[in-house]
Order: sequence, then C-alpha cells, then structure tokens
Amino acid sequence: AVSRKDSYDITLLPGDGIGPEIMESAKSVLSALCDRCGFELNLREALIGGAAIDAVNDPFPDATLEACQSADSVLLSCIGGYKWDGNPRELRPETGLLKMRKSMGLFANLRPAKVLDQLIDASTLKREVVEGVDVMVVRELTGDVYFGAPKGIDTDADGKRVGYNNMIYSEGEIERIARVAGDVASKRNGKLCSVDKANVLDVSQLWRDVVTDVITDEFPDVDLSHMYVDNAAMQLIRWPKQFDTMVTGNIFGDILSDEASMLVGSLGMLPSASIGESGPGVFEPCHGSAPDIAGEDKANPLALILSAAMMLRYDLARGEEADILEAAVETVLDQGLRTADIKQEDDGCKLVGCIEMGKAVAD
Ligand code: ATP
Ligand code: MG
Repeated sequence: AVSRKDSYDITLLPGDGIGPEIMESAKSVLSALCDRCGFELNLREALIGGAAIDAVNDPFPDATLEACQSADSVLLSCIGGYKWDGNPRELRPETGLLKMRKSMGLFANLRPAKVLDQLIDASTLKREVVEGVDVMVVRELTGDVYFGAPKGIDTDADGKRVGYNNMIYSEGEIERIARVAGDVASKRNGKLCSVDKANVLDVSQLWRDVVTDVITDEFPDVDLSHMYVDNAAMQLIRWPKQFDTMVTGNIFGDILSDEASMLVGSLGMLPSASIGESGPGVFEPCHGSAPDIAGEDKANPLALILSAAMMLRYDLARGEEADILEAAVETVLDQGLRTADIKQEDDGCKLVGCIEMGKAVAD
C-alpha cells in the first residue's frame, strides 16, 4: 500500500478468456473516475497466464514481475483456458499465478462477500437471511497445513501407510496477518472476528494469543472476538449478518471464504485482493476466464470493476473514490441493467453486454 498521492502507476494484467474484454470495461470506468475525482492512473499492460505462454513461453515472465513490482498496484483479470490444459506444469497458466503470489510475497487474501439488494430476487437466496450481508474474510495464504514440514506418506511398523501434514504458524506470520486484518477492519466497521480451533489445536492457541496482542496493542478501536471454526461455519449460514471482518488461517480460510461467497449468489460479482507486507497488492475477480463465453461480449465486468474499487481502498489510500465506484455499480443495477449471468427471465431488466455494462458504470 502507498500513501495518498495525485498520480499512481498501475500494472494491468488482462490475461486470458474474457480477461481482455472485462479489462477494457474496467479501463473505461477507471478513466471516468479519474476525470471526476481529479487524480491520475498511469496504466500499463503486461503478460500473464496463457497469453504469456503463447507470447514468450513463460506464464509469469520476468518482465511482468518487474512491471508488477515497480507499480503502485496490480489489477488482474483472469487466466487459463482449455488451450493450455494439457501443458506440463511449468507451462500452465495457473503456475504463473502461483509464481506471482510467491515472488511478490502476497500472504493475505481478502475476499468480501456483499449481498446486493438488487440481485436477491434474481437468485435462490432467502431474503430475510441474507439481505444486507457484508462480510470480509481475511485468509492467510502462505503458511498452515499446506506448507508445514515434515509432510508426506510413509509406512508404519505394520506395513500400513500413514499420511501427515503439519499445521504450523510462527508468531511473525500470525502478527503480519493480524495487522492486515486490523487495518481492514478499521477501514470497515471496526469489528473483527478471529477464527481458530483453539479448543483442540496448540497452533490455534498461539494464533489466538498473538491476534489478541496485535489487535489490542495496535488497533485499540477494533472490537475483536474469537470463534471456533466449526461454529463459524455454522453461524455463517445461520446468521451471516453477525459478521463484518473475519480473519483466519490458510485452510480454515479456504473453506470459509468459499462458504461466504455463496451467500452472494453470483460469481460474476465477486472481487478479491492478495496483499503483502509492503509493496503492491494484486486485485482480481474470484471468477475464472470463462472460455465458454470469451470474445462474445457477454461477460460480466462488475467483479473486476469491484476489484478495482478494492485496489483504490486498500492499496492507493483512495477510500472515497472506492465508495464512488461501488455506488456506481449499484446505480447501474438499480437502473435495471444485467449481463446474462445475473439476468433472470421476466425480471423486467435489460440484457446488456460487457461493453455496455462498463460504459454504464463509467457514465
Ligand atoms: P477457474 O478454474 O479459473 O477458477 P472455473 O472453472 O471455476 O474457473 P469460471 O471460468 O469462473 O470457472 O466459469 C464458470 C462459469 O461461470 C462459466 O460458465 C462462465 O461462463 C461463468 N462465468 C464466470 N465468470 C463470469 C463473468 N465474469 N461473466 C459471466 N459469466 C461468467
Ligand atoms: Mg476452471
């Protein structure tokens, strides 16, 4: 994150599938926002994923890393597609994404799940449960049972196989994710729930102690609570409105962020962010490259546009401009514009393509 300034350097990664077309929409929206709010975004594009494999035979070329690291922030569309599915691992688009996260030190994943009133009737959501839901899951991305050593499958004394992974968190790893969560919570409603399994796991007891220390010392205005993960999974379904910001480890966060996203109802509406200690974050929609509709002007650009709003809020110290952008998205939905993925038969709304949706938000 950088402090507020008049001009920012942004690297855009259009990627694959619907990526380039939704990026065009986002660019037109950002340019309108700059005009209205009087600041500058210097946009430059770089290659990632399948597009980079085709051009330079590398899903995350050094030139792209350079372009990302020297920018104030990075906006990414989506990567992947059938074309590269059979490639060896080092030449898969997804490998580029992993390389990017690792080389940029992106250890925190922010996944908001906000239910938009305008779309409740277009889904199977139960209005009385989800109306007004606005949850942010902050997930630790680089530690936990995914990376703890030792791990593997061995054979025990009886010749039976034994599989094991280790849930490991160091104090430093917990401190830095707690700091991100404290910052996010204070930019939202100041309410933070830390999720662990401290009744059973030692590593969770450390998690709980360290999160408590960091928030108490550094974010005295944040109201911190703790919940066991099994209860949190239940409460998210039972009464999601009790949550604002949640923070948790890698595996619990994997599960809870997917669970929370299903409260919203449409993939085409969900943004996300991955951020590090210092330096630029990467902001991207949760959806994939939707190769089935690529190039047909049918894609929903709103998740990418909402990702740009997160970029403004969490990386560029432009919270007010983020609010304006999010309000513009709600306005076009109020006006009854819908891309195919959020259009219901007989909803009285107007079916529009990616370009028209972007233009409407820009207007
Ligand atoms: P990945 O494996 O990259 O996470 P995925 O296989 O889970 O992606 P997507 O590429 O996200 O899936 O697509 C799933 C379905 O949702 C497809 O039918 C696609 O057309 C649709 N879809 C995804 N994103 C959008 C969008 N922005 N606008 C319209 N439809 C979308
Ligand atoms: Mg897929």
